[in-house]
Amino acid sequence: LPVIAIVGRPNVGKSHLFNRIVGEASAIVSEEAGTTRDRHFGQADWAGHHFWLVDTGGLVEDSNEPMDVAIRKQVMQAIDEADLLMLVVDAKVGVHPSDARLVDILRLAKKPWVLVANKVDDPNSADFYDFYRLGVTDVYPVSAANGKGSGDLLDAVVAAIPETDEVPSEAVRIAVIGRPNVGKSSFVNKLLGEERLVVNDESGTTRDSIDAPMRYHDQDIIFVDTAGLRRQSKIDDGIEFYSALRSRRAIDSSDVCILMVDATEGLQNQDLKIATLAWEAGRGLIMVINKWDLYADKTDKSSAKFRKDAVEKVPYLGFVPFLFTSALTGQRVNKVLDMALEVQEQRTRRISTSQVNDALQEIIAKLQPPQAAGREVKLNYATQVETSPPTFAFFGNHPELIPENYIRYIHNQLREKWGFTGSPMRIIMRSKR
Ligand code: GDP
Repeated sequence: LPVIAIVGRPNVGKSHLFNRIVGEASAIVSEEAGTTRDRHFGQADWAGHHFWLVDTGGLVEDSNEPMDVAIRKQVMQAIDEADLLMLVVDAKVGVHPSDARLVDILRLAKKPWVLVANKVDDPNSADFYDFYRLGVTDVYPVSAANGKGSGDLLDAVVAAIPETDEVPSEAVRIAVIGRPNVGKSSFVNKLLGEERLVVNDESGTTRDSIDAPMRYHDQDIIFVDTAGLRRQSKIDDGIEFYSALRSRRAIDSSDVCILMVDATEGLQNQDLKIATLAWEAGRGLIMVINKWDLYADKTDKSSAKFRKDAVEKVPYLGFVPFLFTSALTGQRVNKVLDMALEVQEQRTRRISTSQVNDALQEIIAKLQPPQAAGREVKLNYATQVETSPPTFAFFGNHPELIPENYIRYIHNQLREKWGFTGSPMRIIMRSKR
């Protein structure tokens, strides 16, 4: 999905505008697991255009740099990360010297942007005319407070979003995700060969070679958002801010996610949150425990123990393959490709309806669904309704009375039978037709 970033001086009303747009443009509120701060990005949909909206306000407010430096950085980062920018100015204040400097920066960047004059609460007011002094062709007057003008603004914005060439996908799309500094870019470098990265680095920040393709055993593979990985290690501010958005984006546009963990730090809650985002989004998952060269005792036992501890914390990891690597020495790095292809195969596997029904008969024969309120609860037949991830529908007389623990029992039985290693798997209960 394209990313639209809202930038501008403090107090011009960026977060009000953010809330207004995300609220008005049928928002799918992103439930960032565990973010205690205010929401900084959300998905919105306007006239059939789906996009991420980012409020960069927090970047400046949190900074202890001089205001001007902080704002400048905020905008530079947004230029790197976003596909389109909204520069917000304050119509009640008029043209501020910082506004003019930001316009200069935006002109030099090769990204589309629009100028938004906020706090124009009365649409007949001429307050915002002053901003034409900045040499822009359009100024969009809005009132984040009462919503006036935001429809016209959104129309203009979605029209200006650059078309992204969707890669026709026979290719398996792999995202390497995880906290900063766990070794993601080192890992991807190792895998893709160092030269490629040198080439990209020379071309600077203007070239957004986000996706890196490769071919492996006659299979096209695409590593998504490798440009993001490189950027991340270069910028030391705002890492947290953009890395959450980047993870979400990478997860959304991938088939298989490689969740990278720093072995020396052990499995952190933040690692698990990112893993769970990928798992719940239906993506294939591989746990890569990196920096294994530094891990005190790297025997088979210690890898088995690492895995066991992880599964104890988060049971679904029992269905996920683990790989213990060193991006520094290259140890086992190449194995991840075979693993990813295998996981994708599992994730796209289709089981015939007769096999699913045979499984259902075995499952019931071992353990009947419990009676509920004296009524006999029956499951009559089942079928796989979807792949990516495999999803099975079970039909019965009282689907609503099948308890959670019986569904878990079915889940485990199907896993035992078919594995689906590295892939989520879903079960739904339906009324018999
Ligand atoms: P990223 O932020 O996840 O992309 O992490 P980087 O790839 O930038 O790596 C962060 C730091 O860890 C760098 O200094 C790397 O050289 C180092 N590093 C990465 N992988 C390994 C590894 O497997 N072993 C060791 N010893 N260091 C590593």
